[in-house]
Amino acid sequence: DAAGKSRTVAVIGLGRFGGALALELESAGTEVLGIDASADRVQSFNGLLTHVVRADSTQEEALRQLAVHELDVVVLAIGSDLEASILTASRLLKFDRPAIWAKAISEPHGEILDQLGVHHVVRPERDMGRRVAHLVQGGIRDYVELDADFVLVRTRAPQAGQDRPLDVLDLDAKYKITVVAAKPLGGRWQPTRPHTVLRDGDEILIEGGRAATESFSRLP
Ligand code: ADP
Repeated sequence: DAAGKSRTVAVIGLGRFGGALALELESAGTEVLGIDASADRVQSFNGLLTHVVRADSTQEEALRQLAVHELDVVVLAIGSDLEASILTASRLLKFDRPAIWAKAISEPHGEILDQLGVHHVVRPERDMGRRVAHLVQGGIRDYVELDADFVLVRTRAPQAGQDRPLDVLDLDAKYKITVVAAKPLGGRWQPTRPHTVLRDGDEILIEGGRAATESFSRLP
């Protein structure tokens, strides 16, 4: 049916990236149409995705037969075969309907996809490399950069943030960061309130600029 169809996401290329993405979508309740040129790939995802089809995505006719042009979202997850990625992108761009998300494996690849007009170009290796850089420096357990001046960091409550209510400590003024949530040892994550008191061993989620959140995470 039309309503069901519009919620289906096509994933082209069931490699490590596309495969993981497709399974995650399915487990979140989204129907996935998985497309791959390799019979082995198709075989291994059979039964795990709503639909799995063997097809060459560089062929416009094949995409039409699979009704990719009627979907709202398509993810182009072919990486290492640059030619196949670019050809597929140009075919998809002829369709009015789906929003196209494409994976780029290098800077030039990403540039070409941008130039073609692909709506969302993702660069997983580059982005993950950047993210891990923040983790290996220590002190930071998770790092999400929404913007250079809006970063979410999971870290431990430093001494400077302990034993007195947050509104009294006024970390915003002193360190330019806000504690948005806290998890006591053995407890659960809770949003913080002005009267929240952090203790040694608590984990916290802080928000602030890149530099401010990093230096706060390195406090003793
Ligand atoms: P990853 O690095 O995420 O594993 P790859 O680029 O190595 O990604 O894998 C991409 C997948 O795309 C492979 O499973 C490959 O069979 C598939 N693929 C490559 N070319 C085409 C094509 N023209 N049509 C459909 N699938 C393709």
